[in-house]
Amino acid sequence: MPRYTLAIDTGRCNGCHNCYIACRDEHGGNDHAPIAAAQPRSGPAWIRIDTSERGRYPLVAVSHLPITCQQCEDPGCLKAARDGAVIRRPDGIVIIDPVKARGQREIADACPYGVISWNEELKLAQKCTLCAHLLDAGWREPRCVEACPTQALVFGDADDPASAVSAARRSDRAQTLRPETGMKPALVYLRLPGRCVAGEVAYSDRPDEPAAGVRVELSGGARTVSAESDSYGDFEFTGLEPGAEYEIRVAAPGYRDRSIPVPSGGEASLGTLVLERP
Ligand code: SF4
Ligand code: SF4
Repeated sequence: MPRYTLAIDTGRCNGCHNCYIACRDEHGGNDHAPIAAAQPRSGPAWIRIDTSERGRYPLVAVSHLPITCQQCEDPGCLKAARDGAVIRRPDGIVIIDPVKARGQREIADACPYGVISWNEELKLAQKCTLCAHLLDAGWREPRCVEACPTQALVFGDADDPASAVSAARRSDRAQTLRPETGMKPALVYLRLPGRCVAGEVAYSDRPDEPAAGVRVELSGGARTVSAESDSYGDFEFTGLEPGAEYEIRVAAPGYRDRSIPVPSGGEASLGTLVLERP
């Protein structure tokens, strides 16, 4: 028996919403009993993309975070349900029974990820099923995964060591979303948006020339990482630990090194770091 799950690489998501449209196309107005009743023709699909702006003007970045049912191993929705209206299948997919769950609003209220929608017409809590009706019919992956043009969504058997989803789960960048919910989410995320710091490098004696390819080092927290400024002289580091102290060091041949502390707290724009000749 496979153990189905998703790995979501937020670094690959461009916010195109193809997954959302595929979900609407598969479920909007289409009844897939006994796995799921039809999604209403208007209203949310069962995957959403949370878009956020990071950094500080003028150096900002946009992140897109796909959020859907986390197929929890200890799900709150299941605990809130009466009469076996929510089950966790042996393959790991959490299903809200479209008949038994009628009228049980508390199922929708029990999800800390906010991924259950309430179908007012059917008086039914509804959410992603990982397209279990298709998997049961022999499909290899859900519609959203098939529709994703950047492979940000990876589906497969977590118990198959050769599967792409297993490889993603083994990555040292794999994290679960809000593990503090205690619901043991089965989905993993790669490159979740975190605190970031950005800046620009410039030469004092060559103000019209972008300081491209300059070595920039970030030290502090649990790591030291280095990068090079891009063709505009800009640099960016992401995934900084929330409470940790950091320092940026900039070094270019023929110029004095510059070090600058990263302001503590949230995200930071360091402005322009001007390199002087000795
Ligand atoms: S994410 Fe929410 S809806 Fe999905 S299994 Fe967990 S508690 Fe249930
Ligand atoms: S289809 Fe893929 S790239 Fe597009 S929004 Fe969905 S997860 Fe992101």
